[in-house]
Amino acid sequence: MLLVTDPGIVSAGHADRVTSLLEAQSIKVARFGEVEENPGTRCVEKCVAVARSAGVDTIIGLGGGSSMDTAKGCNFILTNGGQMKDYWGIGKAKCPMLPLIAIPTTGGTGSECQSFALITDEETHQKMACGDSKAAARIAILDPALTLSQPPRVTACSGIDAVAHAVETAVTKARTPLSLVFSREAFRLTITGLPRVLASPDDLEARGWMLLGAAWAGTAIENSMLGAAHSAANPLTAHLGTPHGHAVGLMLPHVVRFNAKEPVAARAYSEMAHAAHLTQRTDSPEQAAERLAATLRELLARTGLPVSLKASNLNQLQIPQLAAEAASQWTAQFNPRKVTATDFEELYAAALNHA
Ligand SMILES: [Zn+2]
Repeated sequence: MLLVTDPGIVSAGHADRVTSLLEAQSIKVARFGEVEENPGTRCVEKCVAVARSAGVDTIIGLGGGSSMDTAKGCNFILTNGGQMKDYWGIGKAKCPMLPLIAIPTTGGTGSECQSFALITDEETHQKMACGDSKAAARIAILDPALTLSQPPRVTACSGIDAVAHAVETAVTKARTPLSLVFSREAFRLTITGLPRVLASPDDLEARGWMLLGAAWAGTAIENSMLGAAHSAANPLTAHLGTPHGHAVGLMLPHVVRFNAKEPVAARAYSEMAHAAHLTQRTDSPEQAAERLAATLRELLARTGLPVSLKASNLNQLQIPQLAAEAASQWTAQFNPRKVTATDFEELYAAALNHA
């Protein structure tokens, strides 16, 4: 088996524990423990080299989204050859792929329930979403005890990302009655779980809610895609190095307000906020959406992360380029309200001037 993980998980002792459990069953384990945050094509290539020389027949992704993305990326190239960009899009792998077991250690991306690997092209800075049903994990092991070792910054960023996945999937054009069930339950679990894990990091029950909520949100993404907060976040991560979850959290309240001008989206936000008891009975859909946006902003503040783009060192002059890139992101097309480069400029300006 190939164990794909990152240095933090190795030093937390989780990689050794998995290895010794497998070796006790006479299973040989090759380890790639050098996964980087927002993994790029070079990271995947290094992982493939380890897998090839060991001749593995199963892959384990142990860690946050980056470890699971690297494991999936490695699986594409190991079984189907070529380079990562050959699999950008959906269903590009022609040959069968190796079975993948996903063990998340953050309540975050929900990558364990998705068939997509997000790999950055190091030359173009583009985040490539490479999806194939064969790349999805056969088994996901959700053990909240593994999430206790997350550094506080990771708990904050991955938790905000999970909440954002629930909110964005609930309103996309691609949403279905089934994906909505997952979005709503994911929102209920994460919006109640995140304040608790922020206040008491050892609260195992709330850690469990976050882990399950993140997995349900990942299941929702698999069916309904994402929206404009993710489109706007990716250029911030690529150019300014803002961590993914923080970038999404900065943009989300502004995207909710923008989308709520579309009555269908306002109603969808309102139903979600109502189910999580954030609203009052007399609230109009627009008022409920505004309460949701305010709650999301308050949640970001509670993590201790900056609530304005000022802290990301965004220069006003960079906005047009970032906005053009955001508008060309794949997820933008699923946003419930049409969102142009000019709209993204306004969204960035709102996030920059936000106190
Ligand atoms: Zn995300």
